[in-house]
Amino acid sequence: MKKKKNKNDLVIKTKQRILRETKSSQKEYITTYKDIKRYFRVFNKTLFKGKLNAFNDIQIKNMKTAYGQCVENLSYRKGTSFFVLEMMPKFSSKREFLNTLAHEMIHLWQQTVKKDTGNHNSLFFSFKPKFKKIGLELTL
Ligand SMILES: [Zn+2]
Repeated sequence: MKKKKNKNDLVIKTKQRILRETKSSQKEYITTYKDIKRYFRVFNKTLFKGKLNAFNDIQIKNMKTAYGQCVENLSYRKGTSFFVLEMMPKFSSKREFLNTLAHEMIHLWQQTVKKDTGNHNSLFFSFKPKFKKIGLELTL
């Protein structure tokens, strides 16, 4: 009999991957567009059931008040909004980078899939156990 593919397999695989790729946890991490796109796909599948559309734009830039940001831009002329992911060029570790990316992806999910405010509300924190399962930490 063929083994039925378990939904949990994806969670376990993602957790192993994160563990493997964050082994040298003391090492400073330099942000790349490639990693952002790679992990966007991984987290989208594992945490958001593949429902997220990609950010409309991604910018690696220095910020004064955050490590990452999901910025909504409104076009009054077109009546549409588009979402920009901003990430710091450098993180203290790759784990910090992954935590930040996944955090900003929740804000995108809130605003595009759930039409929510995108605040740090109970909808946001409902991801805490899911993060823990794949070895990430959901913080502010
Ligand atoms: Zn936030």
